[in-house]
Amino acid sequence: MAREYFSARRVLVTGGAGFVGSHLIDRLIAAGDEVLCVDNLFTGAKANIAHLLGHPRFEFLRHDVCLRLFVEVEAIFNLACPASPIHYQHDPVQTTKVSVIGSINMLGLAKRIKVPILQASTSEVYGDPTQHPQTEGYWGNVNPIGLRSCYDEGKRCAETLFFDYHRQHGIDIKVARIFNTYGPRMHPSDGRVVSNFVMQALRGEDITIFGDGSQTRSFCYVDDLVEGLLRLMSSREGFTGPVNIGNPVEFTIRELAELVIEMTGARSKLVQRPLPSDDPTQRKPDISLARAELDWEPSIALREGLVKTIDYFRQLAN
Ligand code: NAD
Ligand code: UDP
Repeated sequence: MAREYFSARRVLVTGGAGFVGSHLIDRLIAAGDEVLCVDNLFTGAKANIAHLLGHPRFEFLRHDVCLRLFVEVEAIFNLACPASPIHYQHDPVQTTKVSVIGSINMLGLAKRIKVPILQASTSEVYGDPTQHPQTEGYWGNVNPIGLRSCYDEGKRCAETLFFDYHRQHGIDIKVARIFNTYGPRMHPSDGRVVSNFVMQALRGEDITIFGDGSQTRSFCYVDDLVEGLLRLMSSREGFTGPVNIGNPVEFTIRELAELVIEMTGARSKLVQRPLPSDDPTQRKPDISLARAELDWEPSIALREGLVKTIDYFRQLAN
C-alpha cells in the first residue's frame, strides 16, 4: 500500500536552498506541508527561497549538516551536498564529510524521531559505467582516488550508511539515484553543462565542449525529478530503492550544444577543451524500476525544459 503523503506534515529538507531542494520545497508547500529548510548556503542561495520567506508554513535554518541537529519532523529529504564538479572539487574533503558525516547525522535524527528519510544519491555511483543503460543492480566502475572520488565515493558511502541503518536499526529509508537534472535556479556559474552552454550562448561566447563532445548524458527537467522524489517518499513501506530517477533519452554533449545554439539563436562557435579526468563516457538510466514501483516516468522533453531554463537565465542576465 502506498503511504498517504499529500497530507499536511512537517518535513525537513536539507540542502533546501539549492537548485533541486528549492523546487522540492515549492511542491511540499503547495501540498500543504510545513517545511523546515536547513542549508549552510555553500552552493545554495537565499534568492532560491526568497519567495517563501515569511510564509507561515516555511522556516529556514542556516546550519551545516556536518553538525548534529535536533528537530522534530515527520519526514526527511537529505539533499545537502554540492552537486556540480566545480563546486564539489572546490573543497573535496568537505564534500566527503557532507555525504558521510551529514548522512550519519541525518540518519541519527531519523532513528531518534523514527521517521522516513530519503537520500539524494546520484548516477555518479556508477562511475564511468561499463553497463549501458545503467540498472540499479550494476555496482559501478568508480576510481576511488581521482578528482571526482570525493563526490562519487562520498555518495556511495552514504548509500552504505543508509542501508546499514535500515538493516541494523530498522530505519525507513528511500534512496534515489538522480541522473543529470537541469532547470531554473541552477547556479549560472556552477560549471554544469546545461548552465554553462546556456550562459555562454546568451553572452555570445564560445561554447566549451570538453573532449570531442561524443560523451553522452540524459537530461531530466527538475519538475520531473521532484515528482519522482515525492513518489519515492510515498512509496510502499519496505521499498527502499535504490531507484534511478532520470530521463532515459540520451544526447551527446555536442548535440546539446547544437540544440542550445539553435534555441537561443546565438552565433557562438563550438570550441574544444580538454576532457576532465574520469569524465564518464556515457550515461543513461534504465528506469524500469521507477516505472514499476513509483508509476513514474519523465514527461518533459529536453527542448521543452530548455525553453524554461533559457528564459530563467535570460532574466538573470538582464
Ligand atoms: P545544489 O548545489 O544547488 O544544492 C545543494 C545544497 O546543499 C545547496 O543549497 C548547498 O548550500 C547545500 N549544502 C551543501 N553543503 C551543505 C552542508 N554541509 N550543510 C547544509 N547544506 C549544505 O545542488 P542540487 O543540484 O540542487 O543537488 C541537490 C542534491 O541532489 C545533492 O545531494 C546532489 O548530490 C543530488 N544530485 C543532483 C543532481 C543534479 O543533476 N542536479 C544529480 C545527482 C544528484
Ligand atoms: N561539459 C562540457 N562543457 C562544459 C561543461 C561540461 O563539455 O562547459 C561536459 C562534461 O565534460 C561532461 C558533461 O558535459 O562530459 C556533463 O557535465 P556536468 O558537469 O554537467 O555533469 P557530470 O559530468 O557530473 O555528468
